[in-house]
Amino acid sequence: MQERLKELQQEALEAVQKAVDLKELNEIRVSYLGKKGPITEVLKGMGKLSAEERPKMGALANEVRDIISSGIEEKQKVLEEEAVQKKLASETIDVTLPGRPVNSGNHHPLTRIIEEIEDLFIGMGYTIAEGPEVEKDYYNFEALNLPKGHPARDMQDSFYISEEILLRTHTSPMQARTMEKNEGKGPVRIICPGKVYRRDNDDATHSHQFMQIEGLVVDENIRMSDLKGTLDVFAKKMFGDDREIRLRPSFFPFTEPSVEMDISCKICKGHGCNVCKGTGWIEILGAGMVHPNVLEMAGYDSTKYTGFAFGMGPERIAMLKYGVDDIRHYYTNDIRFLKQFSMHE
Ligand SMILES: [Zn+2]
Repeated sequence: MQERLKELQQEALEAVQKAVDLKELNEIRVSYLGKKGPITEVLKGMGKLSAEERPKMGALANEVRDIISSGIEEKQKVLEEEAVQKKLASETIDVTLPGRPVNSGNHHPLTRIIEEIEDLFIGMGYTIAEGPEVEKDYYNFEALNLPKGHPARDMQDSFYISEEILLRTHTSPMQARTMEKNEGKGPVRIICPGKVYRRDNDDATHSHQFMQIEGLVVDENIRMSDLKGTLDVFAKKMFGDDREIRLRPSFFPFTEPSVEMDISCKICKGHGCNVCKGTGWIEILGAGMVHPNVLEMAGYDSTKYTGFAFGMGPERIAMLKYGVDDIRHYYTNDIRFLKQFSMHE
């Protein structure tokens, strides 16, 4: 029996040495050390032994088990280490392979222009005011000196939602809302960027939805020269120090007097070309002194307070600045168009 145990020990250790993977090693463990294994089988014959021999044989069997078991453990460590090495070798990264390009986005040209304009006015002490796109007729028209039935309402065909609610046709309602919030007290110095809506058929220069940036300053002693100076700074910062501005008389119901601002044509330097239609000037925005009716309706004493307002289209400014020839490019989101602006980031 003793010899049989030693034989088994020898056999088992040889098998362990030959094992090539963890699966095989586990099979060896089960077959030699399991309950149905040969060692258990041998020990079944212990009944035939004398009382003195039995404990010795028991001890020997345990010793053989321990030896086999530690042999398996050692081999297991070796095989595990080999498996790790193999895995590392198979997963080696080839650093010479070209990487996968990461698609990086860029800001939409209108976002860029609006942020640029915002920064410019924030630098002059303005704050940004934003308001609802679904607006009350009162703020969109009436509070801006455009009572119901006013002929100027025809100038801006509107998307009405109900009798009193519409999609705002301009960002000017924020003038009325801000002044009302300030309860007749100055100063007010805001710009309001946002989307506006008009019933226009889309073409190269019209869109039913577009952006506007409104500016409003209200305080004591605000004069037309303040407006002109502000617009001059804006034009030079936006388009270059060599650009001149001129103001032409115009009409808006909410300003009096009203003006249109032109900047000198960059291409012909004022001599006249196709871009400026031979005039040497390019129309940029509308502006004017806040109409006393608008001030009064918002709760301001128009004998004490005066103000100026201006409104511009970021699309038009971006078109002029980047040489874009069709307003629809901004809204059709053709990636080839948008990608061109990544270089300006
Ligand atoms: Zn020109």
